[in-house]
Amino acid sequence: MTLIKKSPIEILNKIFGYKNFRPAQEEIINHILKGKDALVLMPTGGGKSLCYQIPSICLEGVGVVISPLIALMQDQVIALREAGVSAEFLNSSLDFNEEEEIIKKLLNNELDLMYVSPERLNNENFKNILKRTKISLFAIDEAHCVSQWGHDFRPEYTKFRFLKELFPTTPRIALTATADDETREDIIKNLDMDNCRIFISSFDRPNIRYSVQIKDKEKKQLLDFIKNEHISDSGIVYCISRKRVEDIAEFLKKEGFKVLPYHAGLSSKERELNQDKFLKEDGIIMVATIAFGMGIDKPDVRFVAHLDLPKSMESYYQETGRAGRDGLASDAWMVYGLKDIVQLNKFINQSGASDEQKKIEKRKLNLLIGYCETTGCRRKAILEYFKEKYTKDACNNCDNCLNPPLTYDATIDAQKVLSCIYRIQNERFNFGAGHVIDILEGKRSEKVLKFNHDKLSTFAIGKDNSPHQWNSIIRQLVILGYIRVDSEYMTLSITKEAIKILRSEEKVNLRKYILQPKIEKEKEIKKDYTFDNNDTQLFNKLKQLRLEFAKAENMPPYIIFHDKTLTEMVIKKPSTMEDMKDITGVGERKLQKYGEAFLKAINE
Ligand code: ADP
Ligand code: ZN
Repeated sequence: MTLIKKSPIEILNKIFGYKNFRPAQEEIINHILKGKDALVLMPTGGGKSLCYQIPSICLEGVGVVISPLIALMQDQVIALREAGVSAEFLNSSLDFNEEEEIIKKLLNNELDLMYVSPERLNNENFKNILKRTKISLFAIDEAHCVSQWGHDFRPEYTKFRFLKELFPTTPRIALTATADDETREDIIKNLDMDNCRIFISSFDRPNIRYSVQIKDKEKKQLLDFIKNEHISDSGIVYCISRKRVEDIAEFLKKEGFKVLPYHAGLSSKERELNQDKFLKEDGIIMVATIAFGMGIDKPDVRFVAHLDLPKSMESYYQETGRAGRDGLASDAWMVYGLKDIVQLNKFINQSGASDEQKKIEKRKLNLLIGYCETTGCRRKAILEYFKEKYTKDACNNCDNCLNPPLTYDATIDAQKVLSCIYRIQNERFNFGAGHVIDILEGKRSEKVLKFNHDKLSTFAIGKDNSPHQWNSIIRQLVILGYIRVDSEYMTLSITKEAIKILRSEEKVNLRKYILQPKIEKEKEIKKDYTFDNNDTQLFNKLKQLRLEFAKAENMPPYIIFHDKTLTEMVIKKPSTMEDMKDITGVGERKLQKYGEAFLKAINE
């Protein structure tokens, strides 16, 4: 039996500066300490890293962590060293001499943690070195990379079966934030871990507030959102294409924000530079295509804004999940419109995928649209999509809970628009939503006059709704399957189901269109803290101090202290080193290194 050098709770307190384990962490750590294998499914920000870092420190020998992303690996190693843990990484970024040094340390049993790339782990020479090393555990991070169905398949991940053959008694822990059944099975099969225990945490991210709005002057909507909620915060704005990224980045820059673009058109050097800046400076907005974010572990991203729809609920959950890893209040904000839906459908149709694959992708897209249109709690909808039961009816931290949407019996409105479409859909030309709305509104546009559509019985029967309202009605009828949109020309026609509504055999309830619903102030849930003016000043002062240290040591500010730690300093105003030690995130080494400076700043 391996020797346990120190107790887990002692390490948590003294090295990481945290008081208590999160419930799952303690169980997982104890399981590993018994020498058993584990598969850990935990959302982003759930605290997966400690599950292998602490046993690696507790146990005799080195914990070998397999991680697919160089940037993440380096971040973690720097953070561990800052906390006083002896950690190294081996990847393609090192030169020969550096590698030799590290391997020496490895063989001399001087390391608690060793991060390696998957390529390195599979390397025969390295396997021979590992055989001569005392190893406490193997942690396979981002374990979903083994799955061909997932979004980050990495072939090297499929070769880790040898771990069991070469190290039959060394515990293995596989970790991922991807929860679906297929991925889970793939991981177990590939690692030959039939006997592992599976730990599944709730995938709820309670600190993220979800909201989805109808797209209408997207730039103004985005600007209002950032100005009202996130002035000088770090955030990510996702757009579908390089062109959109450039356009939106330019726009925000003109509005005075610190903005960086990220898309495939930039050189890898530029992308790396922008990513590095985003990590190391405060208050940058990254405008990016979804290619951005895979390697991003920045804990204080305060908002993720989608100006274009993601591909599926999985992508939505993953992309929004990059907000608020530190557990502080954050926003996942999205706008969408009929055009987005049509465009994404078009992409799917034009992709070279098989018909079967196209069908699956369309279904996934439709489920996402259903989420956008839901009038119920969004958190509940997300969790239920991932087959997790949400026991509450309302989370009070999504737009629909905070500001319940109105629905109404829209049968008559639906009949008006459906019969209007029906009357014109078989003409030689087909017509899109804009034209249909013009007819309903009684607008004598050039096109309306040209086709004599002012003579239709449906002309001007819809004046009681605004064009926006009609747009919303049409969009909802599309989603409910009463109207079909041609994916190439965006022209409308009615479906078989629509006949039932036209014959009054079926009723339809729709969401009432309200532009930019305002969240009522008194319903707003309390933030984790409320700062008065002095507090805000102090917080900014501490942030500045942190930035100076970070610059001097060339590392991201959050590696020194998280915002959460600074916030607690502002609230508790520690006056002695002893008080300082009680602040979350201040371990022994950080106390020594930064304690005095921060105390001085607080008590000045
Ligand atoms: P994951 O890898 O699951 O996304 P991390 O391991 O990066 O999550 O942890 C997310 C955040 O939570 C980090 O800032 C980490 O320091 C913090 N954290 C983890 N465990 C605890 C704990 N027991 N007490 C306080 N903070 C914790
Ligand atoms: Zn809710």
